[in-house]
Amino acid sequence: MTSRPADSHVYIDGAWRPSASGQVGVVEEKATGARIGCYALGDARDVDAAVAAARTAQPAWAALAASDRAGYLRRMAGYLQDHYEELVTLSMRETGGVRAKAEDEVSTSIRQLGISAVQATENAGDILPPYKAGKLSLSRVVPLGVIGVITPWNYPMNLAMRAVAPALAFGNTIVLKPAELTPMIGGRVLAEAAHHAGLPAGVFNVVTGDGTGAGWPLAEHRGLDLLDFTGSREVGLAIAASAATDLRPVRLELGGDNAFVVLHDADVELAASCAMIASLEFQGQTCISSSRHIVVREVADQYIAAVARRAEALRVGDPLTGQVELGPLISTGQRDRVHRTIVEPSLAMGARLVTGGTYEGLFYRPTVLAEVTPGMPAFTEEIFGPVIPVTVVDTEEEAVALTNGYPMLMNSVFTADLMRGMGVAERLQAGEVHVNDAHARHGAENQMPGFTRRQWIGVQRTPLDLPSWTADPAGRR
Ligand code: NAD
Repeated sequence: MTSRPADSHVYIDGAWRPSASGQVGVVEEKATGARIGCYALGDARDVDAAVAAARTAQPAWAALAASDRAGYLRRMAGYLQDHYEELVTLSMRETGGVRAKAEDEVSTSIRQLGISAVQATENAGDILPPYKAGKLSLSRVVPLGVIGVITPWNYPMNLAMRAVAPALAFGNTIVLKPAELTPMIGGRVLAEAAHHAGLPAGVFNVVTGDGTGAGWPLAEHRGLDLLDFTGSREVGLAIAASAATDLRPVRLELGGDNAFVVLHDADVELAASCAMIASLEFQGQTCISSSRHIVVREVADQYIAAVARRAEALRVGDPLTGQVELGPLISTGQRDRVHRTIVEPSLAMGARLVTGGTYEGLFYRPTVLAEVTPGMPAFTEEIFGPVIPVTVVDTEEEAVALTNGYPMLMNSVFTADLMRGMGVAERLQAGEVHVNDAHARHGAENQMPGFTRRQWIGVQRTPLDLPSWTADPAGRR
């Protein structure tokens, strides 16, 4: 990784090349604003070339022995492992995360490659019970074809890898468009790993660029068999609307307004300690961050005091110093969104500032808001910043009712009674709910493949006595 052909180039058909526009953007270290690299501003012409290369490469890639594809994945993992320290530092500088977050990102990516390599060589189908005598029914797993992958800036490497690794393992080829705020750790490094691993030309392509210039042409490309998009609801909605016009397959992983419910019998200190992770990890910029804390009145004052005390003890600054728990927000746009569209209007509507609410540059103090009510932006919006808004309710039923009705990925409920917690979890409309925990199911081991389809195969084992269908009441043969 010493010479960097990839800086200012796109990676298409196994080679680094300038983008069609020839233009480049600058990559900044988020904590200091220092320039740490650049990236090619790809556009529709680069996307077309990348999709064409992926299409050409796909049949031969799928035809390889699964163990051969697994070998390529392991070599990619080996490359990332060999450059582990360098990549952790790059992630810290490019995303603004602390070391633990960066290590999680790189190590999860490495594990994802290893897991996908194993999955590729596992059982690839089933023998099914035949629907009538004399038939043999099989199903086998086959790749979808060419997959477009668009990723966000918060965990750029492992959110790319959770799609790229299983998709490659099962015989698909890829065009990746990483976020423009993190094109190195989210794009260039992965292309370097693929190049180093010797992946056949066209199997893995990276087109850097911004959302409208490179993302949109990829999102609406007719040459894809699936678009895998991770990002905001706003962009996801636009992609879904476009895909609906000609039923293009898309998979959307979007944001949510996740809830953290504290019931009357909760261990308040345990809940407050988990709230730090749930709402403040990576400055609150994760899709599973708790964006609403819904607390039963009996313990509300105690809870607010406990989270404020813990939040005030957290240090904010440059992650490279190793002396901080929170780094900078990703951009001035994100900071202004948090402060001007969420915190300030919520305070103007009657929320009470318990702690925080101030910033220097991109460094935003961990913030606790009390007396938040359901009409306020701090309640209705995904915050994506280090803010804990607390809303008080009187009963468990009210907590459940107030929690539901919003898009949610991961919720938590705190109670001393495990059965009560399980009961509340059942009634919450989230993909995941944790009882007395936060962000627990969070790793390469638990992510979904989903880049294949089932192909059903029926075999008639004995000659048919035609016209047999006349004797079949279901009209089937
Ligand atoms: P974003 O939607 O602004 O951008 C995501 C990606 O889409 C980037 O690569 C961007 O360049 C691209 N993009 C932007 N506009 C586009 C367009 N019109 N057409 C095609 N591509 C376009 O999101 P973000 O700010 O990078 O990320 C934050 C959001 O992502 C949050 O809402 C967060 O909850 C969500 N997220 C979800 C998950 C998940 O697994 N569900 C994981 C991480 C982040």
